Amino acid sequence: MPFQGHTNPMLQLGDVLHARGLAITVLHATCLSAPDPERHPEFQFVPVPDGVPDHVAASGDVLGIIHAMNAAMEADESAVLRDVLATVLGDERQPPAVCIIFDANLLAVPKAAEALGLPTLVLTTGSAACFRCLVAYPMLHEKGYLPHQETKLDMPVKELPPLRVRDLFYTPPSHQEVMKRTLARVVEAVKKSSGLLMDTFDALEIAEVQRIREELNIPLVLAAGPVNKLSSKSIGSSLLDQDFSCIEWLDQHHPESVLYVSYGSLASLDSNEFLEVAWGLANSGHPFLWVVRPDLVRGMDCPDFPNGFEAAVHSRGKVIRWAPQQEVLAHPAVGGFWTHNGWNSTLESICEGVPMMCRPQFADQTTNTRYVVNTWGVGLELDGELERGNIEKAIRKLMKEREGGEMRGRAKELKKKVGECLKDGGTAQIAIDKLVNYILSM
Ligand code: UDP
Repeated sequence: MPFQGHTNPMLQLGDVLHARGLAITVLHATCLSAPDPERHPEFQFVPVPDGVPDHVAASGDVLGIIHAMNAAMEADESAVLRDVLATVLGDERQPPAVCIIFDANLLAVPKAAEALGLPTLVLTTGSAACFRCLVAYPMLHEKGYLPHQETKLDMPVKELPPLRVRDLFYTPPSHQEVMKRTLARVVEAVKKSSGLLMDTFDALEIAEVQRIREELNIPLVLAAGPVNKLSSKSIGSSLLDQDFSCIEWLDQHHPESVLYVSYGSLASLDSNEFLEVAWGLANSGHPFLWVVRPDLVRGMDCPDFPNGFEAAVHSRGKVIRWAPQQEVLAHPAVGGFWTHNGWNSTLESICEGVPMMCRPQFADQTTNTRYVVNTWGVGLELDGELERGNIEKAIRKLMKEREGGEMRGRAKELKKKVGECLKDGGTAQIAIDKLVNYILSM
């Protein structure tokens, strides 16, 4: 999958399995940025012509790109994916392929793999809670929770606590049917596969993982994460150049004094929201490190900062285009993370014990926010209008006030649990042992 939030966990999982002695071949799309083979000499890379038209690839419409990829790769006449797979399987210079691990969104894979008799494992790059929502999608419609209705947003979804209707991922009414069909196919693909791998860990989501086991009844359902911590630090799966100058800048700041601000690789702002964020950060008085991707502001290439912003901020703020996020979150100077709650960002923050200021936008981000705020108590939500006064208040609460301090305390406790599960004999290591043995038994 040509998106950062999908490439990272997939390559990290590859790294983990490679470290246990398995050979790894990475099949990747070509329509957007692809991983750089030079940074992973231990893997073999095979590009798959994905058939996504240029205008769709350039549109930034994630669902549109996924849909186009699946449609092109599944077209009977093309069988492109099957041909690529057949070439990989027939390559006598490589060790024999045992199975293919594919991203849950890549619905073209099961058919191609089945035609070649290759077992499949599915990796879902969201949380276990999010996967439960996908499985429950028909029920959520039958019981009237979905489609979202303004009057029901605060209604608890009693089958999926602690979620309320507003925490379920939003699909516009015009896309409901397509979404229903697509999610049904995702669940079907998982049920037909030899196993489901989730980038989460038992101490975080044991109840959700257990429910999925009961609901799916397939040979293997595994909390196989956090893969960002199980894999080696040098995995370097970023699709964009990361600006490491920010680490030196962080070195000059007091412990837990800096707010790190990043909305991942896809979420965006309108130009007015951008101004409000800029002034909210400037007026908060806190040091901040802000990732402003060139395409962060809709309709603009590299947004301009408002007049007076630089003078107001001086050296207290640093703006970069793309961060080495895991290193940033692990830096002692970072005391909070203003995030869109993409699952990777959420998990990376949890792994480093950094409390969050949450501003979810779409997909599973609202579900993740609910767990961060309500279940784990390691963040606050910045809801309502994105306005400088609200932003300033929320930053103060997270970085300076008692409530934020309590969240930081809980985040540190969770970080300890991450440490426990990563140790020899810890649940994450046991899960990977189980996965490797399972693959070798195929
Ligand atoms: N990321 C990064 N540098 C940045 C911002 C994000 O390397 O400046 C990485 C981050 O560590 C995470 C991924 O990009 O692994 C974003 O994935 P996530 O699921 O959080 O959000 P998405 O981009 O899919 O919305």
